[in-house]
Amino acid sequence: MSATKAYAAQSATTPLAPFDFSRREPGVHDVQIEILYCGVCHSDIHQVRNEWGGSTYPMVPGHEIVGRITKVGDHVKKFKVGDLAGVGCFVDSCRVCDNCKEGLEQYCETGMVGTYNSNEKDGTATQGGYSTLIVVDEQYTLKISDKLPLERVAPLLCAGITTYSPLKHVGVKKGDRVAVLGLGGLGHMAVKFAVSFGAEVTMLSSSPSKKADAEKLGAHHFALTSDKETMKGLQNHFDVILNTVSAQHDYSVYLDLLRTNGTMIVVGVPPSPSQVPAFSLIAKRRSIIGSLIGGIKETQEMLDYCAEYNISSEVEVIPIQQINEAYERMIKGDVRYRFVIDIASLKK
Ligand code: NAP
Ligand code: ZN
Ligand code: ZN
Repeated sequence: MSATKAYAAQSATTPLAPFDFSRREPGVHDVQIEILYCGVCHSDIHQVRNEWGGSTYPMVPGHEIVGRITKVGDHVKKFKVGDLAGVGCFVDSCRVCDNCKEGLEQYCETGMVGTYNSNEKDGTATQGGYSTLIVVDEQYTLKISDKLPLERVAPLLCAGITTYSPLKHVGVKKGDRVAVLGLGGLGHMAVKFAVSFGAEVTMLSSSPSKKADAEKLGAHHFALTSDKETMKGLQNHFDVILNTVSAQHDYSVYLDLLRTNGTMIVVGVPPSPSQVPAFSLIAKRRSIIGSLIGGIKETQEMLDYCAEYNISSEVEVIPIQQINEAYERMIKGDVRYRFVIDIASLKK
């Protein structure tokens, strides 16, 4: 077993605090990764605070992990000691259902094994990337290029794939009118990908202060969601809306912005449900679909795409000691645009 330093939540109402535990020694197919950076996703907050229900403690959050391989099992083929590696939102799945066989492990019919707040097949609780080490089967580990700064790559493991995958799935292409709703970790990656796929991109935000940043990220237009006149002018306008909002909001306001056959992709997971009026859908044969992260093969494709086209996350690197403050700032929408923990701060 390997001693591992971490920050954990002991309950839904206590702040994250230092926590020591042990990781297993790598099995024959496993790699051991010394974690260098871990991104902070809003899903970490939802789960730490048990906003979706079913959380278990102690919980070490973190599923945007990059680091360097320090040990490999005897049968490991893809990696050697010293390689860069990444781990996203899951570390295993059944491997035999139709979804797993198609590379859609995130939709595994018996449920994927989450990187944290979940259980390995042997029943051990999984613990995430706000920690110094992780041990993962090589099949669930990603190759990381050395072309991009590592701290800016970490958020690609969740925010990146969660926005890349559905934009690809609905076939966003040159000239499509795409709106991104909510400019946070997911939203800013969605803007970058939609722009790189050739779409005409509009940022829909509740924060006037983010206008200049949206333009810097490549958005062609910015609309303040509280501005009734602007919103009226955008009715029946978009082919696709990628909805990344983490808090309760009214879907129908945004469905009405879709043109005929338009699609709203829901990736944000507010703790309570939103009503969907039938009229907003039938009026223009609109659809609403959901999407969960992406499979291993597509995550690797996205990482390689980012390395080739120089796409990475805008980050504020923090020491782990500032994590509770970072959570409070994210809840206020005050993040530009992903907090990333420098894991060296855990060793101090
Ligand atoms: P984030 O960085 O906190 O960004 C969320 C953004 O939503 C905020 O920056 C803000 O943008 C907007 N927002 C927040 N509260 C709002 C409110 N009350 N009304 C209107 N807009 C509000 O969060 P994130 O890490 O990008 O995650 C976003 C959501 O996606 C979370 O619910 C997370 O759990 C979920 N998620 C889903 C998947 C998946 O696989 N489907 C994967 C990862 C995360 P503006 O200031 O621009 O309005
Ligand atoms: Zn996430
Ligand atoms: Zn499966």
